[in-house]
Amino acid sequence: MEIRGPVNEMATTQKIRRTPLRSCVVCREPSDKKTLLRVVRAPEKDGGGVFADATGKANGRGAYVCASAECIDKAVKQKRFERALSASPLPPNLAEDLKMMTEKVSSEKVLAAATSTGATAT
Ligand SMILES: [Zn+2]
Repeated sequence: MEIRGPVNEMATTQKIRRTPLRSCVVCREPSDKKTLLRVVRAPEKDGGGVFADATGKANGRGAYVCASAECIDKAVKQKRFERALSASPLPPNLAEDLKMMTEKVSSEKVLAAATSTGATAT
């Protein structure tokens, strides 16, 4: 006697659906997405290239790393992105691109801090 039906299968599918967890590929620290940088492997049909995703919206498989030089360097040295994205080789300038994004993140923070403290412009 088989009770398995489409209704049961649908329920199972919904339970399995996971919320995407964003954590650094180096320290595995789950973070707010604002403090994580995204690295994407483009879909095969788009060439499968790996790049730093400044918009956070590029198509493809993503991996995340803290916006810190320490984690970026470790990720590159320890080939964390290769492992996370099943991709190689990585573009040689990936670490540089990520660090530039880091600077942008921190300068935005500085800017926000300067605005909230009412820094006077000359
Ligand atoms: Zn990290």
